[in-house]
Amino acid sequence: MNRYASSVLNTLKKKYPEQKEFLQAATEILDSLSLVLDKHPEYENKGLLERFVEPERIITFRVAWTDDAGKVQVNTGYRVQFNSAIGPYKGGLRFHPSVNLSIIKFLGLEQILKNSLTGLPIGGAKGGSDFDPKGKSDTEIMRFCHAFMRMLWRHIGPDTDVPAGDIGVGGREIGYLFGYYKSLVNAHLGALTGRGTSYGGSLGRTEATGYGLVYFVEEMLNTAKKDSFKDKTVVISGSGNVAIYATQKAQQLGAKVVALSDSNGYIYDPNGINLKVIQQIKEVERKRIKEYLNYVPTAEYHEGCRGIWNIKCDIALPCATQNEIDESDARKLIANGVIAVGEGANMPSTIEAANLFVSNGVLFAPAKAANAGGVATSALEMAQASQRIFWTFEEVDKKLHSIMVDIFHNCEKAANEYGMPGNYIVGANIAGFEKVANAMMAYGVL
Ligand code: NDP
Repeated sequence: MNRYASSVLNTLKKKYPEQKEFLQAATEILDSLSLVLDKHPEYENKGLLERFVEPERIITFRVAWTDDAGKVQVNTGYRVQFNSAIGPYKGGLRFHPSVNLSIIKFLGLEQILKNSLTGLPIGGAKGGSDFDPKGKSDTEIMRFCHAFMRMLWRHIGPDTDVPAGDIGVGGREIGYLFGYYKSLVNAHLGALTGRGTSYGGSLGRTEATGYGLVYFVEEMLNTAKKDSFKDKTVVISGSGNVAIYATQKAQQLGAKVVALSDSNGYIYDPNGINLKVIQQIKEVERKRIKEYLNYVPTAEYHEGCRGIWNIKCDIALPCATQNEIDESDARKLIANGVIAVGEGANMPSTIEAANLFVSNGVLFAPAKAANAGGVATSALEMAQASQRIFWTFEEVDKKLHSIMVDIFHNCEKAANEYGMPGNYIVGANIAGFEKVANAMMAYGVL
């Protein structure tokens, strides 16, 4: 690692020793920026990296709400407004009991580079709460979302900060959040994306992250190996928004998806997953994935989500959560002949696992590039809303496809330029960073 990058990382480690996910993301990014820093010694004089790794603003707040039994519950809310150099802050909200400042900072840091890679004018942010939506009634979800927005609304706005969904925050939650925001500010402003199409949302946003992931991997396969999804066996972890639409697009392109999971376990269906059944269980009934066996008794269910990486496949798409593939999972996938790994979730592979894929010649699509389709389509939603016009599903999907193809080629080009051909981790970090660094340098020290 370059000396300047390494000294910035050491300071971070001393300052935030407990923030392990944030330090993991910072280590990966700073390591691959070494090559750019060697070329730009002026960055050190301007303290560019020190500013880049420190959020512009961190907001934490109390979220007090009342459950169905009349008991008052208290959660912690976060919004990390990390970097607004190239546009208003933009990034999702995560509701999950594991949420803490380290996780929100890691996601926010990644988001800066991801948003830059889309080529659209959006800065990086992330937020959420340690609230656990599992087992909550619809009215509890509504009360929590309203209480969360009661504390967040003053910090966001269509030209300031535009949150969206993430784990535990889908269309239903965005509806509750946006409705409350709208009544507080007394205006119909596009301050959240992922909205329903009847109140300012874009067609294609629901599908965008999963479809975009598959478009990116298809382009990578085609460019590097003249290959495609057709007739490939695919394993996808998770069964939420990203996993469902990655499954749909992979199936449309002729692949056989044989496994999906949730945090309790995974299903294996050698005949190919019946996606309609999954959508019924997950999107309509909001139940556990093992229910799949009630519809398809020939499939298998295994407790524990980790075992999914034992299944032999050509393409693996981790779409659940961070650090779900470690070194030993990566070794199993490689031994079973995986040819490509595309990260739908944010940082699903540990640094060691990602390095193993790259050094073993597995085509590796890093999250910040491969899952950028969701935020890119959110930016398209912002563009449509501000013009008061709406595009058809086909128009949005076409734009998404071309954005993902461009992101792939920008990563490929940066990797080649810096002498690391085929290393899309380095390519994505450099391609995303250069634009943000240029803008930060232009502003002087801020
Ligand atoms: P959802 O809440 O819709 O689904 C998450 C899925 O992952 C569920 O199947 C969930 O299972 C599983 N999961 C969550 N936490 C864990 C865990 N600790 N261990 C195992 N499985 C887990 O979220 P999304 O599909 O929206 O997000 C998935 C990933 O994609 C996240 O990393 C997110 O940051 C990333 N992402 C999402 C985007 C979007 O547009 N939605 C955009 C870019 C990235 P269970 O139901 O049991 O909790």
